[in-house]
Amino acid sequence: MIKIAARLIDQITRAAQDAYPNECCGLLGGHGDLDGDVIITRVQPSKNVAQEGIRDRFEVDPKVRFDLMRKLEGGQERIIGHYHSHPDHSAMPSQHDLKMAFEPDLLWLIIALEDGRVTDTRAHRIDVDASTFQEVPLSVE
Ligand SMILES: [Zn+2]
Repeated sequence: MIKIAARLIDQITRAAQDAYPNECCGLLGGHGDLDGDVIITRVQPSKNVAQEGIRDRFEVDPKVRFDLMRKLEGGQERIIGHYHSHPDHSAMPSQHDLKMAFEPDLLWLIIALEDGRVTDTRAHRIDVDASTFQEVPLSVE
């Protein structure tokens, strides 16, 4: 199970709505293990630097990731995943997302929007054996 504070979900929701009709993206910091419970403690927004267009692609700025890694170094938190939005699509990973899923340890949080409003937020992990995604229950506290 993934646990996230309501204020962090609010932050991601606002970012997704502000970016609409483009995709927003960013990193998630936290602790725990995907085989047990993961607690998200931090949301780090990034500019969407996808070269192929930000309407239906996302890419976290490598500098944002590097800076966050440095910041968390030596502490309890680490980068445990990332988030991006799906303007006018579901909160399920796309075929393209699967192609981009190189890092099995990272959690994927996807925010669905319809007409600029967030309708659904879901968490997924990569199932390496089946080369597919698996949904992980998300608990907002
Ligand atoms: Zn996607």
